[in-house]
Amino acid sequence: MQRFSYTGSRTIDEALTAFREAGLGARYIAGGTTLYDLMKLGIERPEHLIDVTCIGGLDRIETAGDTLRFGANARMADVAADRVVLRDYPVLAEALSKAASQQLRNMATVGANLLQRTRCLYFRNGSGAATIGGGLYPCNKRSPGSGCAAIGGVDRAQAVLGTSDACTAVSPGDWPVALRAMDASVELLGPAGPRTIPIAQLYRLPGDTPDIEFTLSRGEIVTAITVPKTAAGRRSTYHKIRDRESYAFALASAAVALEMTGDTITRARIALGGVATIPWRAPAAEAALANKRLTQEVALAAGHAAIAGARAGRQNGFKVELAARTVADALVIAAQRTV
Ligand SMILES: Cc1cc2nc3c(=O)[nH]c(=O)nc-3n(C[C@H](O)[C@H](O)[C@H](O)COP(=O)(O)OP(=O)(O)OC[C@H]3O[C@@H](n4cnc5c(N)ncnc54)[C@H](O)[C@@H]3O)c2cc1C
Repeated sequence: MQRFSYTGSRTIDEALTAFREAGLGARYIAGGTTLYDLMKLGIERPEHLIDVTCIGGLDRIETAGDTLRFGANARMADVAADRVVLRDYPVLAEALSKAASQQLRNMATVGANLLQRTRCLYFRNGSGAATIGGGLYPCNKRSPGSGCAAIGGVDRAQAVLGTSDACTAVSPGDWPVALRAMDASVELLGPAGPRTIPIAQLYRLPGDTPDIEFTLSRGEIVTAITVPKTAAGRRSTYHKIRDRESYAFALASAAVALEMTGDTITRARIALGGVATIPWRAPAAEAALANKRLTQEVALAAGHAAIAGARAGRQNGFKVELAARTVADALVIAAQRTV
């Protein structure tokens, strides 16, 4: 790991100033569970770290009023255990509690979770690591223009939606998928002032530039995440399928929230994880469910609509049917929840 300096900031202004003064090699750091990891692998090489966890008030969890508001520095474990979130928005609580381990969730923050980088084996095969055969494989995300070793390589975990000829790396987070289903927004503050964007606008499809993953401007800080309150929250779930139930990234996951009249769905919200290059909303599946009674057949048809357009490689074709069934199971779980 290369040498770096470290500053703790007590206010957002201090952090913005420290970032500006530190120049191109600056990075913010929160829980460090992603960034230190990537520094040890030699993939991230910041010269100056600006710790944002000392900023007062940025860890607040606010559940009164029309909107849930989570300060960027709120710990994943604290949001997952919040009484209102647990009762009224199981999709959010489950997305957090099924991510990583308890120790990691105690450190990791909900704001930085949005910005974690892919777990693609080839991306993580940096110069400091011996993850695949000890060598440095081409990766357009890590080293633009070098190629993509995953295409035609070991691709079992790769994405089947939103891919390009330059990159098939999966967006790894669970929390962003649940937030995508719930129409969350992200509050940002940067040198040009504050702005709020729908979470969908935080992420970029890989296209020809998979190295540019987020739409943040240079030096911009995530300050909070907001989720509009909806009665659909109580009939919601985050269903995650993984190789190891206790602790692993998703092979496929579905965030689902339902509005129902009797046993008829009036509105469905569906987002997919583990199968796409960004947190993936599934409007065709949502439309297919409007004004339908939920049966196994209807649920599976919606699952297939959610994954329509999937493009599989050599080893990840199983994700297409897995995702459809994950959506179908999530719909059944959500529909059975009492409001
Ligand atoms: C072994 C392991 C297993 C995991 N399993 C899962 C899993 O199953 N599901 C899942 O979703 N996640 C999983 N994770 C990822 C984990 O959830 C993230 O590492 C964590 O959420 C990142 O939060 P952090 O505060 O530690 O971020 P940091 O590592 O501190 O920062 C991450 C990124 O965000 C930037 N950043 C931090 N704060 C801000 C801010 N306020 N504004 C702008 N930029 C900022 C940093 O510069 C960095 O680029 C796992 C991680 C590990 C190590």
